[in-house]
Amino acid sequence: MSLQERASRERELQRQSAIVAQCRKCGIGATRRNSVYGEGDPCATLMVVGEGPGETEDKLGRPFVGRAGELLDKMLLAIGLPREDVFICNTVKCRPTLDTGSRLANRAPTPDEMRNCRPYLDEQIAIIRPRVILALGAPAAKSFMGEKFSITKQRGTWFDGPSGVPVIATFHPAYILRMTGGAIAEVKRLVFSDLKKVRARLDEPVAEARKEPEQHSLF
Ligand code: URA
Repeated sequence: MSLQERASRERELQRQSAIVAQCRKCGIGATRRNSVYGEGDPCATLMVVGEGPGETEDKLGRPFVGRAGELLDKMLLAIGLPREDVFICNTVKCRPTLDTGSRLANRAPTPDEMRNCRPYLDEQIAIIRPRVILALGAPAAKSFMGEKFSITKQRGTWFDGPSGVPVIATFHPAYILRMTGGAIAEVKRLVFSDLKKVRARLDEPVAEARKEPEQHSLF
């Protein structure tokens, strides 16, 4: 990847992020503290897509920085990928909240919120052109594979995603954190087998058409 290409992607992502920061298409655009556009390598081969920002992410304006984020970092390292080498984002860029009267609780994004935010995600995919998309949890997986997608039955299976990018889904790290007892080891085993499929796909040789043209210059 040439330095010019990297710089141009970085600029485009920053431009998009500024647009998202102004977005008020949904009610959660008014209740959020910060939009959470996403972060990582603009030339990443892997894009990780979660559900939506939680409280810590909303506070810091960064994706997956709470407990689920810590586990995600470990999951990625298990297949040799430091967090900085991938691009991490969500189906929605604002924290979906539920006012319980005493506090704002996290909730799943609504289909309308996901639809409103979808062009931003599609734009991220178009700019980064990852080799693989990893969807975390049922809402993110359904946003790519359709409402009928079953995370328990169809995780670990490859699907065609936007712009032909292969998508695979696994359980959300927050789901693993909610598990207790012997179920944890079993879910971790399943997640690891999905992650190994991602690793294997990334290790496949790059098709000629995807390769950057060679840069020929004196210096
Ligand atoms: N859960 C998500 O789905 N996304 C985040 O950014 C954090 C937690």
